Amino acid sequence: MSEATAAENAIIRINGIHKIFQVGDVEVRALRGVDLTITEGSYVAIMGPSGSGKSTMLNILGCLDRPTRGKYFLGGENVAEMEDDILSQARGKRLGFIFQSYNLIQQLTVIENIQVPLIYQGVDVNAPEHLKRATDLAELVGLGDRLDHRPMQLSGGQQQRVAIARSLVNDPLMILADEPTGNLDSATGLEVLDLIDTLNSEGKTIVLVTHDDFVAERAHRVVHMYDGQIAREVINKGKAVAK
Ligand code: ADP
Ligand code: MG
Repeated sequence: MSEATAAENAIIRINGIHKIFQVGDVEVRALRGVDLTITEGSYVAIMGPSGSGKSTMLNILGCLDRPTRGKYFLGGENVAEMEDDILSQARGKRLGFIFQSYNLIQQLTVIENIQVPLIYQGVDVNAPEHLKRATDLAELVGLGDRLDHRPMQLSGGQQQRVAIARSLVNDPLMILADEPTGNLDSATGLEVLDLIDTLNSEGKTIVLVTHDDFVAERAHRVVHMYDGQIAREVINKGKAVAK
């Protein structure tokens, strides 16, 4: 792919990103000059030891946190110049999130948890088309018969499936996942990874943080982080980007 084409298909482009956390008198330099372009339809794994900056990077890529300095373009728009509310709108429409600990709301049912991002967008979730969308997604992740269950009535794998359905409800361009199988047994983890593979083969861009080689093998591209920087990148041959 030529550089011009790669730039056109870029969902996210970051350049010279630094993130410094101030903890009392101590500056923690979590990211120290990171450049990364993520193209549409790709599946990128971010690996590295604990503390290397993976979650910080994912949070910045997902516009959950702002860099201390550096450039960030989301679909061609400069994130640094966006007001907070515009940024959260852009995030809600374009990005979906899956976390290690599922982050479901315990008081809400499966269907209500799936609808949470719609509520943030100010959508009437009881409108028939929105109810149908959430129900279809519950079915897609195999929970069509659990719509009224609450998270504590579900297994870990089922909870992560709810989180995956929730991440899809706004039909985002890209899904960001931080150790999505970290709390699951290996068989359940495999099912979740298969589901993520399916989403990618249908065209969703995936960025996934893991410390597990076995998980990273599924990605097209593996970005290895060390000490807040990208130490190296490996392209997984034979894993062409779906188009
Ligand atoms: P990883 O996900 O690779 O384990 P993190 O991105 O969570 O690494 O953390 C990178 C570094 O930044 C670590 O030294 C961590 O302690 C520090 N860090 C992360 N988040 C914060 C925060 N909110 N406040 C202070 N330090 C933080
Ligand atoms: Mg982390």
